[in-house]
Amino acid sequence: MERKKLVIIGSGPAGFTAAIYAARANLSPLMYEGFLSGPSGGQLMTTTEVENFPGFPEGITGPELMDAMKKQAIRFGTQILTEDVKEVDLRERPFKVQGGKTTVLADSLIIATGATAKRLDVPGTLDGEFWQKGVTACAVCDGAMPIFRDKELYVVGGGDTAVEEATFLTKYGSKVYIVHRRDSLRASKIMAEHAMNHPKIEILWNKVLVKVEGGNVVERVTLQDVHTKEEISREAAGVFFAIGHLPNTSFLKGQLETDEQGYLIVRGRGTETNVSGVFAAGDVQDKVYRQAISAAGSGCMAALDAERFLTVNGIT
Ligand SMILES: Cc1cc2nc3c(=O)[nH]c(=O)nc-3n(C[C@H](O)[C@H](O)[C@H](O)COP(=O)(O)OP(=O)(O)OC[C@H]3O[C@@H](n4cnc5c(N)ncnc54)[C@H](O)[C@@H]3O)c2cc1C
Repeated sequence: MERKKLVIIGSGPAGFTAAIYAARANLSPLMYEGFLSGPSGGQLMTTTEVENFPGFPEGITGPELMDAMKKQAIRFGTQILTEDVKEVDLRERPFKVQGGKTTVLADSLIIATGATAKRLDVPGTLDGEFWQKGVTACAVCDGAMPIFRDKELYVVGGGDTAVEEATFLTKYGSKVYIVHRRDSLRASKIMAEHAMNHPKIEILWNKVLVKVEGGNVVERVTLQDVHTKEEISREAAGVFFAIGHLPNTSFLKGQLETDEQGYLIVRGRGTETNVSGVFAAGDVQDKVYRQAISAAGSGCMAALDAERFLTVNGIT
């Protein structure tokens, strides 16, 4: 079985940045870029303009940015396998990594498998419908788009994230509605009070989103009262899902410490997990920032941490 100094799992901004640093440090990294888990390049492959990644004053499309990162990783010698990792065995080093077709041994491992934004299966919100045409799951990423300016926007959810997203969107929308299926927010008390007192935020209690319609972009939403089942149709320019993310960790089968939401736990301000030699980077360990640049930054940290670990353990 082939043995590698470093295996990187995941091919988003975190994985590719880790690969660039590790390859330049002569670690000859092997990356499992995924296959059925999602497109090579990660979440940004599903978006159009990325306007907040430094270095691109005119913006860059998600796929162009990820293609450039991939080329940079390959240029320095990263080997890439288009496979999902099905299972890892972290009980002893070298770790065993089992892909869809291959199995390798790894002296160190970087987990950069990202997280998937939860979406509701509501007509009009799906891929090929209005997803990314007014329906999104990231206010910080998409809120500044011209289609949302001075328009009525709808945030679906009831936790801290929903309140944060709604507050962020008040910078752009004329009014922001939080659509919540219950009669009280799950958000912390301070966040809930903030939402309820904000002049541009209105909470629509006991309502669920049942339909999104429009022309080229979102124009209307239909909401249903959970008790009376009465439906109302309202003008809308944007729908923002804020119902949480699912970190992609199922293949780890509980071998690494996670929090109650499934995010990998790293030690202090670094990238080390509870298993020595296994590092985590990007959205899979970050439920707070969830941006391409922060994912890339932690990918860099994970590569430097892995390099240090290998040196200390005499693997050069
Ligand atoms: C629609 C949308 C628009 C966004 N726009 C912006 C923006 O404008 N600016 C910004 O900064 N951020 C934006 N974000 C957020 C940004 O995309 C993420 O923060 C970032 O991609 C996280 O990077 P990552 O490397 O941690 O993981 P991801 O990008 O999620 O990549 C993880 C990769 O791991 C792979 N993978 C998963 N499981 C396995 C497995 N078992 N084996 C092998 N591979 C696996 C996946 O297929 C994927 O390729 C946006 C997100 C979305 C969804």
